[in-house]
Amino acid sequence: MYQFDFAKPKTLDDLKALREGEAEVQYLAGGMTLIATLKQRLAMPELLVDISAIDDLKGLSKTADGLKIGALTKHADVASNADVKNTIPTLAKLAGMIGDPQVRNRGTLGGSVANNDPSADYPAAVLALKGTIHTENRSITADDFFVDLFETALDEGELLTAIEVKTPTRASYQKFANPASRYAIAGVFVADLGGGDVRVAVTGAGPCVYRLKDFEAALAKDFSVDAIKGLEVSADGLNEDVHASPDYRADLVKTLTMRAVKELTD
Ligand SMILES: Cc1cc2nc3c(=O)[nH]c(=O)nc-3n(C[C@H](O)[C@H](O)[C@H](O)COP(=O)(O)OP(=O)(O)OC[C@H]3O[C@@H](n4cnc5c(N)ncnc54)[C@H](O)[C@@H]3O)c2cc1C
Repeated sequence: MYQFDFAKPKTLDDLKALREGEAEVQYLAGGMTLIATLKQRLAMPELLVDISAIDDLKGLSKTADGLKIGALTKHADVASNADVKNTIPTLAKLAGMIGDPQVRNRGTLGGSVANNDPSADYPAAVLALKGTIHTENRSITADDFFVDLFETALDEGELLTAIEVKTPTRASYQKFANPASRYAIAGVFVADLGGGDVRVAVTGAGPCVYRLKDFEAALAKDFSVDAIKGLEVSADGLNEDVHASPDYRADLVKTLTMRAVKELTD
């Protein structure tokens, strides 16, 4: 570690006052990623701000057409919350598949989405469920939010406050997990939002979460495994690492998509 200043504000106003200085600010939520990043000196902020005591970033409520979830909501709370289980059970299931109990009891929705790890689970759900990402000053659609590898539309020092997602008529998340970390080698979230609006979001396979638009169009016309079994997933630009080649990942994405549709139509 190296030397940095530390603050733990209790309100958004206290946070705003802290930011008025010249210091380069970084937020600490669950710390599951950031503490390791600080130790490796991949992040070296002048001021580390622990946001965990700010009540405005907490809470989970139903909206007219879905759920609004505070940035500080822990994965374990999304997994066990009755409103999530009743409204979007697939989202609760996804949260329960993240990492291990320790990670789920520290890691937050806001931290995961702001970090935009290419193998994280939530970005697939937020993109497939037509999510809106709220910050202190604006709202950003998920389609505009996830930009590239660990890159989002957030400006420097912009705080993610909450995320809204829409309730699908049916949805399934299929993940092929790294057996050690549980991160997705590939994960596919299929959401049928009704009225011919189908979304298929892929995580783990590419540098950033993305949609399979040709699969979406085919499923919008005919929501069945038969409708997509003749389609191919391109391996161009997909990730290559010790776990899987781009071709393997492309094949996996198609298999997981078919598995999701099968689950929803059987
Ligand atoms: C062993 C292990 C296994 C894991 N397995 C999985 C897995 O299977 N699937 C998965 O999806 N994830 C997995 N994770 C990631 C984990 O679930 C957390 O989501 C992730 O670490 C980030 O959340 P956090 O709250 O810990 O954020 P932090 O580590 O505190 O912060 C991460 C980044 O986000 C920024 N940030 C945090 N909150 C905000 C905010 N409100 N506004 C703006 N910026 C913010 C921070 O400044 C930092 O840059 C794993 C992590 C570990 C350590």
